[in-house]
Amino acid sequence: MIEQPYVYRHTELAEPDWQRLPGWADVSPRDWASAQWQRAHCVKNIRQLRQVVGDGLDERFYADLERDQAERATMSMLVPPQMVNTMVPHLSPAHPGFTDAFYADPVRRYMIPVFTDRREDWPSHPLASRDSLHEAEMWAVEGLTHRYPTKVLAELLPTCPQYCGHCTRMDLVGNPTPVVDKHKFALAREDRLTAMLGYLRNNPGVRDVVVSGGDVANMPWPRLESFVAGLLEIENIRDIRLASKALMGLPQYWLTDEVRAGMERLAKVARERDVSIAIHTHVNAAQSVTPLVAAAAKAMLDTGIRDVRNQGVLLRGTNDKTEQLLDLCFALLDDAKIMPYYFYMCDMIPGSEHWRLSLAEAQKLQHDIMGYLPGFATPRFICDVPYVGKRWVHQVARYDRQLGISYWTKNYRTAVESGDELALQREYEYYDPIHLLPEAGQEYWRSRVATPVAVG
Ligand code: SF4
Repeated sequence: MIEQPYVYRHTELAEPDWQRLPGWADVSPRDWASAQWQRAHCVKNIRQLRQVVGDGLDERFYADLERDQAERATMSMLVPPQMVNTMVPHLSPAHPGFTDAFYADPVRRYMIPVFTDRREDWPSHPLASRDSLHEAEMWAVEGLTHRYPTKVLAELLPTCPQYCGHCTRMDLVGNPTPVVDKHKFALAREDRLTAMLGYLRNNPGVRDVVVSGGDVANMPWPRLESFVAGLLEIENIRDIRLASKALMGLPQYWLTDEVRAGMERLAKVARERDVSIAIHTHVNAAQSVTPLVAAAAKAMLDTGIRDVRNQGVLLRGTNDKTEQLLDLCFALLDDAKIMPYYFYMCDMIPGSEHWRLSLAEAQKLQHDIMGYLPGFATPRFICDVPYVGKRWVHQVARYDRQLGISYWTKNYRTAVESGDELALQREYEYYDPIHLLPEAGQEYWRSRVATPVAVG
């Protein structure tokens, strides 16, 4: 047998035993399978985390978490039991190594960030910003980002059943934190959704709508169904993608009778009209793919929708190793029938430097996963370049590794560049984490911060 850098093994999915956690020792399988029970028992604060893990976590962890929430966190805490249960899945909190294992856990690293996770030297890149992709600037009507020629992003609502520490929409999504106030929609939801459908009716060049938020799993189903039904009535709309991390974080929701029956109705109409509906989810670690997640994905495919795809985010400490990424892709593909589609580089929001990878690291990971997965299921690694959009990481035009600046070009105008004649000739910059740069590069950024003059 030829020795290979990665060895494929099929691993049966298993639901970790939630009864190992003292707070849920008496929870029945029936309650666990209930979306309502899951929502009612989300972990929203330190007190609730203590109730779940009992004495399993050292005080140093709670102090670390408290400090992060007070000084750094851009997202408030909200973790469904389903996700808590996938952290340190094989260890009981009574085990003496539980705290260290919890610190090191890939899911914990992005769902329950602590102060010592973050960089002390550069917690944020100096050019990091809220709404780093300028989505709100490109709203055609409130909440509808028109960045690409033929596709739009509809942010239906600003909440999710779970909040991820690295959320790129930290500007809008979730509750305020001590360090971040959230942007509030000015229009009432009904007015926003009506305006979105109106815009799409009047813009026949748009054929593809990403229906997102937040997470569509937080929209009451009848309202989501009527919005999607409204899209299906617009002749030019050919692709509809529903964005829901909850397919993984709260699969119980996607398994409810109401949602399955409603999705069947939508899928039937979509088929009759030759429109594709897909669900896009967001799974970052193989351990998150459990039998319930697989059941939810397959239940959705059984309704007749076109596909369920995964858009993960590359995060240091969670999935920055080739083996972690391939294990995740195979877990998605083999047993959950979820198509690995994208891995995004983590966007340049405040407090994200410890998570972010350099472009060179992302390019290497893309290189190293090639050839193991079927071509149709080999995910693309993506840099979402401000004012440009998604670019495969190898599409960079120029790359200054010393300063950590990559330069990108584009071939269409975004909504804010209609009168900009140079938009297609310009190069657009993206930045590596400073702590990864050689000393000369780090010095450049120290002096640039000390003398805030536009350079480069
Ligand atoms: S589910 Fe998506 S939108 Fe919601 S917090 Fe996570 S990354 Fe942000």
